[in-house]
Amino acid sequence: MIRKSCTAFVVVLLAFSVFSIEGWTQARALYQQTQYKGQEIGKLTGDVYYARMDDYVSAFMVTSEGIVLVEPIGTEMAAWLKAELARRFKVPVKYVIYSHSHWDHASGGAVYADTARFVGQENLLKNIAMPPASTPLAQNTRAQDTNGNGRIEKEEAQGNIRSQFDLYDANKDGVLTGAEVTRGPIANVHPPDVTYTDRLNLYLGGKRVEIISRPIPHADDNTIVRFVDGTNVLFASDWITVRRLPFGQIGDAETPMVKAVEAMDFEFFLCSHGALGKKADVTSNIRYREELRAAVAKAIAAGQTLEQAQKSIMMEGYKDWDFYEQQRPQNVAGMYRSLTAGR
Ligand SMILES: [Zn+2]
Repeated sequence: MIRKSCTAFVVVLLAFSVFSIEGWTQARALYQQTQYKGQEIGKLTGDVYYARMDDYVSAFMVTSEGIVLVEPIGTEMAAWLKAELARRFKVPVKYVIYSHSHWDHASGGAVYADTARFVGQENLLKNIAMPPASTPLAQNTRAQDTNGNGRIEKEEAQGNIRSQFDLYDANKDGVLTGAEVTRGPIANVHPPDVTYTDRLNLYLGGKRVEIISRPIPHADDNTIVRFVDGTNVLFASDWITVRRLPFGQIGDAETPMVKAVEAMDFEFFLCSHGALGKKADVTSNIRYREELRAAVAKAIAAGQTLEQAQKSIMMEGYKDWDFYEQQRPQNVAGMYRSLTAGR
């Protein structure tokens, strides 16, 4: 009798989870906002490969004992990549390393849970935990709360909150609290079962992978990964961009951190987005930041306001980089604020 009801319970749960997973599929369009399109696997060096879905790029190393993978990217990519890896290499994924907790990089890992352990910097646990119930709606989402009840109902939701509503709605009650909005659309992020503080060495099949904590303004749980494989591959998500303007309001304090990465031993560089890179691309990223700093300092010395600096600083040498139009004013603003802070 007990056995029978247990079985019935399991069947109900299975039916429910299949339904839920369909409801939670991530919109592919969110990964397709640049000229990079499609899913592919390619070799970088030795036994280290990249895997792309649209603008998003992950990396993996194949050993006789299994595969070490960085970032699942999303549910659709993870399902595709798992099947491709099994077909091509015939060894299981043993480790999935999270670069940081953001949904667009960290979602989809659950498909690897039958064979893999999940590694993340310890702050990742805090970032995927539900904030206190008293957490108010963030300032930039409050306008969506048109009935003013402090929450966002499904019919109120706009933009990304609307398109990813189910991924925010952790308790699936059809209403988003401030805590759920603050936590983010991370229903598909499988929690790490291995966390580390500063640095971790992974060994698999006689090969080493270095996992290094590098907290940055973009993510305090940011991890960089170095595949130690002769001509080494470095993976640093979202901040050291390749032939692309850095994202958002970058400050002066980040430049020495990029230089510290440049000083590491590697040949191939992946920034998790767009073009595949090499060490020279990290050097170019530093040069951009230094030229931006010099231009902003000059504008400040000439008495320009932020708005004037955003109009006058063109960074002409970088016109062919991705997001030149969109990110240049943001980059100028970040540098302007960091150079005038405390004045
Ligand atoms: Zn991110």
